[in-house]
Amino acid sequence: MKIKDLRDSFVSSLSGIYDSEEVLSLFYMLTEEILELRRVDVAIHLNKKLSAEEKKKFDKAVKRLKDHEPVQYIIGKADFYGVTFRVTPHVLIPRPETEELVDWIINDQANAKDSISILDIGTGSGCIAISLAKNLPKAKVYAIDVSAEAINVAKENASKNEVDVTFVLTDILNTEELFLKFDIIVSNPPYVRELEKNEMKANVLDNEPPQALFVSDDAPLIFYKKITQLARKKLKENGVLYFEINQYLGEETKSMIEAKGYTTVIVRKDMYNNDRMIKASVN
Ligand code: GLN
Repeated sequence: MKIKDLRDSFVSSLSGIYDSEEVLSLFYMLTEEILELRRVDVAIHLNKKLSAEEKKKFDKAVKRLKDHEPVQYIIGKADFYGVTFRVTPHVLIPRPETEELVDWIINDQANAKDSISILDIGTGSGCIAISLAKNLPKAKVYAIDVSAEAINVAKENASKNEVDVTFVLTDILNTEELFLKFDIIVSNPPYVRELEKNEMKANVLDNEPPQALFVSDDAPLIFYKKITQLARKKLKENGVLYFEINQYLGEETKSMIEAKGYTTVIVRKDMYNNDRMIKASVN
């Protein structure tokens, strides 16, 4: 089979499920991965024949895409803040909103002179911790997660991206006290309520790790409360807490943090104009 025929059959198999632009972008993500041809190269190799092995890989990918599996899990990679991360179904696929949180922290640190210590709670693929380590070379970065599988993926991502991050397997909800004092504590914990499941797409709901996403309807701020409380004792003077938050709970999350003694609490919107991030400090 020639690449151009493969493209036609790929488009016709998936066009009922994904819109036409998305189908093509999926196709080119796979040609890059399976054939090692970038989009621009595909155009000049349309008459090239696929090997049986390559054809098999495409057939398998099409089947998984039909089942709504995210393409990032199929190719095992996702881009975040300018670098490529390995992802498996044990970790959440990094989101563009989270890039905005990372960007906020990096901009706040643009003129910092001293070396700082940072803790990322619930690191998953390691995308927050690793992007911070890469862009703030003077920082000492620590990251924790409750999942051993996630920690393995994150470690692999740190070495692939040539940064030094200390990973610790820890259940934050069962932590009495953090192991060090930090200048920055950041977290993108689970925050989607069960009642919001009906707003979510099948690709997320059926494939991403539920323990990284969901909280119960009656205690949606459980992670935020615990982290805010732990941070109160373990943030250094002038230390700052950053969170990614549930868009519907901006005010509620802000009030909870203020009630725990933080005097400056700022809610920021993401690119879709939803309340998505919080920065809190005690001065
Ligand atoms: N923003 C993610 C989503 O809506 C949720 C991330 C999280 O729960 N921390 O899929």
